[in-house]
Amino acid sequence: MKKVFIYFFAFLFICFVLPALFTKSEINASSKVGNEEENADGNVEKVSEAYIYNQYGTIQLLHTDTNEVEEVALDTYLCHVVSAEMPVDFEKEALKAQAIVARTYTIYKINNKKHDNADICDDSNCCQAWISKEDRLAKWDEDKEAKWNKIEECVKETQGKIITYDHQPINAFFHSNSGGKTELPVDVWGGGSNMPYLQVVETAGEDGYSQYNSEIDLTNEEILQKLKEKYVDIQIDFNNEDDIKILEYTSSGRVKTIKFGNHEISGTEARTIFGLRSTNFEISKEEGKIKFIVIGYGHGVGMSQTGADSMAKNGSTAEEIINHFYVGVEIKDVNSL
Ligand SMILES: [Zn+2]
Repeated sequence: MKKVFIYFFAFLFICFVLPALFTKSEINASSKVGNEEENADGNVEKVSEAYIYNQYGTIQLLHTDTNEVEEVALDTYLCHVVSAEMPVDFEKEALKAQAIVARTYTIYKINNKKHDNADICDDSNCCQAWISKEDRLAKWDEDKEAKWNKIEECVKETQGKIITYDHQPINAFFHSNSGGKTELPVDVWGGGSNMPYLQVVETAGEDGYSQYNSEIDLTNEEILQKLKEKYVDIQIDFNNEDDIKILEYTSSGRVKTIKFGNHEISGTEARTIFGLRSTNFEISKEEGKIKFIVIGYGHGVGMSQTGADSMAKNGSTAEEIINHFYVGVEIKDVNSL
C-alpha cells in the first residue's frame, strides 16, 4: 500500500511540480532577456533602468516660503531645479549638462550644509532655484507635458553622474551668460584658490542670446543716492572727467575697481549697488546721466548656460560642455566615489 502512495506522489511530482519549476525558470530567463537589447554591434546592452543611489538617493529640501522640509528623491528634485534654472527650449545636451551640474551642486551642498534641518533650500539666492511642477507648467504657454517630459528625460539620461576633481564633487558654479569669457572666483568673492577647476575660458556664440547685451541709465542724482546708502560721505564732481573712472580690470576683462569721487569700489560692489547684470561693463558719461553698457549676465564663474546651449547647437555633448567650463575635472558615477 505504501508503494502505491510513493508511486502516486512520484507521478504527481513528475506531472505537475517539475513542469512548474521549469516554466518558472523559463519565465525568469525570458524576463531577463526583456531587459536587454542588442545594439548595432550585436552586443547585448542593458536598457536604462532606475539608478539606485548608494547614498544621496533622497534629500531633505527646505521650502523657504512655508519653512517645511520635504524628503524627495534626488532625481525628482533635479527635474524641478533644471526646469527652474534653464530655459526648456535649450538644446538637450545643454539641459543634460545643467542636470549634471545641479546634481553635483546638490551633493556638494549635502556635504557642506548651510541649513541645520535640511540639505538644501529652494531659494536661488541661498542654494539652488526650485519650482513646483504646477507652477512650471502654468508658466509655459504650450506643449506643457512634452516640455516637462524633455526635462525628465535629460535628468534620467544623466542618472548618477556628477563632476569631480581629485575624486571629490566640485563646487559647480554656473551663471546665465559669460559674455564670451568666464571669470575667476577670486575676482568675484576674493577666494577660490582651492577650486583650480574654475578658470577663465572662452566660448563663442553667447552674443546671440538676449542675456548678452544690456544697458542701465542713471541720472547723476540717482548715482549719488545709491552710493550714499553705503558711503554716507560720498562726494562726486560730475564735471571732473577723472571723478568717475574704471581703474582696473580683472584677467577676464571685467571691472575690478572703479572710482566714484572720494571712493574706490570693486566691480562686484558696483554691480550690486547699480543693479547691473554683470561686472563686464563700460561707462559713458552723458548730459546729466551715466550710461552703463553691460555685457553678459551673472557672476561669470563656472558654466555659462547660454554658452552651454551655444556649444550644444554646434554639436558638443553634455560631457564636452562640462569639460570645457570646468578645467581638469572628471565626470564620475556617484556610486563609485
Ligand atoms: Zn539655502
